Amino acid sequence: MRTDRTFTMLKPDAVEKGHIGAILEKINASGFRIVAMKLTHMTTNDAKAFYAVHSERPFYGELVEYMTRGPIVAAILEKENAVEDFRTLIGATNPADAAEGTIRKMYAASIGENAVHGSDSDENAAIESAFHFSGREMF
Ligand code: UDP
Ligand code: MG
Repeated sequence: MRTDRTFTMLKPDAVEKGHIGAILEKINASGFRIVAMKLTHMTTNDAKAFYAVHSERPFYGELVEYMTRGPIVAAILEKENAVEDFRTLIGATNPADAAEGTIRKMYAASIGENAVHGSDSDENAAIESAFHFSGREMF
Protein backbone atom coordinates (compact mmCIF):
# COMPACT_ATOMS: atom_id res chain seq x y z
CA MET A 1 0.00 0.00 0.00
CA ARG A 2 1.52 3.32 -1.04
CA THR A 3 1.72 6.10 1.54
CA ASP A 4 2.38 9.10 -0.72
CA ARG A 5 -1.08 9.73 -2.17
CA THR A 6 -4.38 11.07 -0.91
CA PHE A 7 -7.73 11.94 -2.46
CA THR A 8 -9.54 15.27 -2.09
CA MET A 9 -12.74 16.97 -3.19
CA LEU A 10 -13.33 20.72 -3.19
CA LYS A 11 -16.97 20.48 -2.18
CA PRO A 12 -19.96 22.32 -3.75
CA ASP A 13 -19.84 25.24 -1.26
CA ALA A 14 -16.18 25.95 -2.08
CA VAL A 15 -16.88 25.82 -5.82
CA GLU A 16 -20.00 28.03 -5.50
CA LYS A 17 -18.08 30.68 -3.55
CA GLY A 18 -15.26 30.84 -6.11
CA HIS A 19 -12.61 29.36 -3.82
CA ILE A 20 -11.15 26.77 -6.21
CA GLY A 21 -8.10 28.87 -7.09
CA ALA A 22 -7.27 29.92 -3.55
CA ILE A 23 -7.56 26.38 -2.18
CA LEU A 24 -5.46 24.87 -4.98
CA GLU A 25 -2.82 27.55 -4.38
CA LYS A 26 -2.65 26.54 -0.72
CA ILE A 27 -2.45 22.84 -1.63
CA ASN A 28 0.42 23.47 -4.07
CA ALA A 29 2.22 25.77 -1.62
CA SER A 30 2.04 22.97 0.96
CA GLY A 31 4.05 20.65 -1.28
CA PHE A 32 1.40 18.43 -2.85
CA ARG A 33 1.75 17.43 -6.51
CA ILE A 34 -1.47 17.06 -8.51
CA VAL A 35 -1.70 13.52 -9.93
CA ALA A 36 -5.29 13.74 -11.26
CA MET A 37 -7.98 16.44 -11.30
CA LYS A 38 -11.45 17.17 -12.69
CA LEU A 39 -14.59 19.26 -12.24
CA THR A 40 -17.44 16.79 -11.88
CA HIS A 41 -21.00 16.61 -10.53
CA MET A 42 -21.80 13.62 -8.33
CA THR A 43 -25.15 11.91 -8.84
CA THR A 44 -27.25 10.92 -5.82
CA ASN A 45 -26.11 7.33 -6.26
CA ASP A 46 -22.47 8.47 -6.47
CA ALA A 47 -22.73 10.41 -3.21
CA LYS A 48 -24.61 7.63 -1.42
CA ALA A 49 -21.92 5.15 -2.45
CA PHE A 50 -18.98 7.43 -1.70
CA TYR A 51 -20.28 8.09 1.82
CA ALA A 52 -21.79 4.64 2.40
CA VAL A 53 -19.73 4.31 5.60
CA HIS A 54 -21.92 7.11 7.05
CA SER A 55 -25.27 5.65 5.91
CA GLU A 56 -26.51 5.08 9.48
CA ARG A 57 -25.53 8.55 10.69
CA PRO A 58 -28.26 11.19 11.17
CA PHE A 59 -26.56 13.62 8.77
CA TYR A 60 -26.34 11.16 5.84
CA GLY A 61 -29.37 12.52 3.93
CA GLU A 62 -28.21 16.13 4.25
CA LEU A 63 -24.67 15.13 3.30
CA VAL A 64 -25.89 13.47 0.09
CA GLU A 65 -28.07 16.54 -0.75
CA TYR A 66 -25.14 18.89 -0.18
CA MET A 67 -22.59 16.88 -2.13
CA THR A 68 -24.90 16.64 -5.17
CA ARG A 69 -26.18 20.21 -5.34
CA GLY A 70 -23.41 21.42 -7.64
CA PRO A 71 -20.08 20.47 -9.15
CA ILE A 72 -17.02 19.53 -7.14
CA VAL A 73 -13.32 19.40 -7.95
CA ALA A 74 -11.99 15.85 -7.44
CA ALA A 75 -8.23 15.37 -7.25
CA ILE A 76 -5.48 12.95 -6.30
CA LEU A 77 -2.52 14.53 -4.50
CA GLU A 78 1.01 13.23 -3.99
CA LYS A 79 3.44 14.01 -1.18
CA GLU A 80 5.35 11.99 1.41
CA ASN A 81 2.94 11.07 4.26
CA ALA A 82 0.10 12.45 2.11
CA VAL A 83 -2.98 11.34 4.09
CA GLU A 84 -1.88 12.67 7.46
CA ASP A 85 -0.28 15.85 6.12
CA PHE A 86 -3.37 16.70 4.07
CA ARG A 87 -5.68 16.13 7.05
CA THR A 88 -3.47 18.56 8.99
CA LEU A 89 -3.70 21.09 6.13
CA ILE A 90 -7.52 20.95 5.96
CA GLY A 91 -8.14 21.00 9.73
CA ALA A 92 -10.90 19.55 11.91
CA THR A 93 -14.24 18.45 10.41
CA ASN A 94 -15.97 21.30 12.27
CA PRO A 95 -14.38 24.61 11.17
CA ALA A 96 -15.10 25.99 14.64
CA ASP A 97 -12.51 23.49 15.94
CA ALA A 98 -10.07 23.85 13.02
CA ALA A 99 -6.63 25.36 13.63
CA GLU A 100 -5.80 28.84 12.32
CA GLY A 101 -4.54 28.80 8.75
CA THR A 102 -6.19 25.48 7.83
CA ILE A 103 -8.37 25.29 4.72
CA ARG A 104 -11.52 24.57 6.72
CA LYS A 105 -10.81 27.43 9.14
CA MET A 106 -10.41 29.79 6.17
CA TYR A 107 -13.14 28.58 3.83
CA ALA A 108 -15.68 26.34 5.62
CA ALA A 109 -19.01 27.61 6.88
CA SER A 110 -20.11 24.76 9.17
CA ILE A 111 -19.49 21.13 10.13
CA GLY A 112 -21.77 20.09 7.26
CA GLU A 113 -20.55 22.52 4.61
CA ASN A 114 -16.85 22.24 5.26
CA ALA A 115 -15.34 23.09 1.87
CA VAL A 116 -13.01 20.14 1.39
CA HIS A 117 -12.65 16.37 1.75
CA GLY A 118 -9.48 14.49 2.65
CA SER A 119 -9.08 10.70 2.82
CA ASP A 120 -8.64 9.28 6.34
CA SER A 121 -6.30 6.35 5.50
CA ASP A 122 -4.00 5.09 2.75
CA GLU A 123 -6.51 2.34 1.99
CA ASN A 124 -9.42 4.79 1.64
CA ALA A 125 -7.25 7.13 -0.45
CA ALA A 126 -6.81 4.31 -2.97
CA ILE A 127 -10.51 3.35 -2.89
CA GLU A 128 -11.70 6.97 -3.25
CA SER A 129 -9.19 7.71 -6.04
CA ALA A 130 -10.40 4.69 -8.00
CA PHE A 131 -14.03 5.78 -7.42
CA HIS A 132 -13.42 9.02 -9.37
CA PHE A 133 -10.51 8.28 -11.74
CA SER A 134 -9.37 5.56 -14.11
CA GLY A 135 -5.69 4.69 -14.32
CA ARG A 136 -5.48 6.61 -17.62
CA GLU A 137 -6.47 9.84 -15.78
CA MET A 138 -3.65 9.60 -13.21
CA PHE A 139 -0.32 11.25 -14.00
N1 UDP B 1 -20.72 15.76 8.46
C1 UDP B 1 -21.87 16.40 8.85
N2 UDP B 1 -22.20 16.39 10.19
C2 UDP B 1 -21.43 15.79 11.12
C3 UDP B 1 -20.25 15.14 10.72
C4 UDP B 1 -19.93 15.14 9.37
O1 UDP B 1 -22.60 16.96 8.03
O2 UDP B 1 -21.78 15.81 12.32
C5 UDP B 1 -20.34 15.76 7.02
C6 UDP B 1 -19.18 16.70 6.71
O3 UDP B 1 -19.37 17.26 5.40
C7 UDP B 1 -17.99 15.77 6.75
C8 UDP B 1 -18.61 14.50 6.11
O4 UDP B 1 -19.92 14.46 6.64
O5 UDP B 1 -16.89 16.26 6.03
C9 UDP B 1 -17.88 13.22 6.44
O6 UDP B 1 -17.75 13.10 7.85
P1 UDP B 1 -16.39 12.62 8.53
O7 UDP B 1 -16.68 12.33 9.95
O8 UDP B 1 -15.78 11.54 7.69
O9 UDP B 1 -15.48 13.94 8.48
P2 UDP B 1 -14.18 14.28 7.61
O10 UDP B 1 -13.40 13.01 7.42
O11 UDP B 1 -14.68 14.85 6.30
O12 UDP B 1 -13.43 15.31 8.41
MG1 MG C 1 -13.99 11.19 6.71
